[in-house]
Amino acid sequence: MTRLVEWSWETVLYNTEAIVVKTVRYGESNAILTLLTPLGLTSAMAKGAMKPQSRLSAGAQVCAQGTYFLYQGKGMGTVQQVERTASRRRLHEDLEAAAYAAYFCELVSHAVPERPNAPASAFRQFAALLDQLEAGQHDTSILARMFETKVCRWLGVSPTWTECVRCGRDLSPIVRYHIREGGLLCSGCFSPQEASYTFQVPDRCGAILAVLERTNFEQLGQVAISVQTKKAMDRILFYQLTEFAGLYLKSRAVLDEIARVFDADNENPSR
Ligand SMILES: [Zn+2]
Repeated sequence: MTRLVEWSWETVLYNTEAIVVKTVRYGESNAILTLLTPLGLTSAMAKGAMKPQSRLSAGAQVCAQGTYFLYQGKGMGTVQQVERTASRRRLHEDLEAAAYAAYFCELVSHAVPERPNAPASAFRQFAALLDQLEAGQHDTSILARMFETKVCRWLGVSPTWTECVRCGRDLSPIVRYHIREGGLLCSGCFSPQEASYTFQVPDRCGAILAVLERTNFEQLGQVAISVQTKKAMDRILFYQLTEFAGLYLKSRAVLDEIARVFDADNENPSR
């Protein structure tokens, strides 16, 4: 957690646990880092970090985690020192994992507010998500859907997945997702005139979304979810994040493009 080390009228030196979620080159050799800390997002300049021999370069890479010592004056903070605890190399070396990592970092940089207003579990959940992605033992699309359910909750665009968005009753077996109302409809509320604003989702899709939302990444066991349910959840959460949270992310388009290539390969293994 954050600890105040020194105080003067001009600047505060403090250290905090942090994960780099964005790095932008500034000038010849400097980097502006966006850091996710347990209290929220903050930006800091890492002087000289783009030089490979810099003592800050390892701590300036996206998905790196550690203790960051920051000088905070009136404007943007400055990184003094980094004690890195995780580099997460696979997220830089594996094409698919890197695309997911880029998407998760862009999502979290839109979903979490600046210090000190972060949702309580955001930092811990994001660190565990990256650890799971690094370990590579879970279906990455399920990790993505899990994280999206949490992001929807943090941004206030999550319906109660087990209730009809219109009447609030428990969902009977046949449900549809309503694109304009942002939630699942029970069969009693659905009328055929609304067919073009809705699409059918598999039974228990809402129940599975509810489970994903409340499961911590540290506790994630092996889960088997049908292809149809995965596709429906992907589509539902995409609408929630774009239509209701307004997040149209570049990294998501890249990820979808890569997923299409991987899917085509799986369907035509001889190629
Ligand atoms: Zn209803």
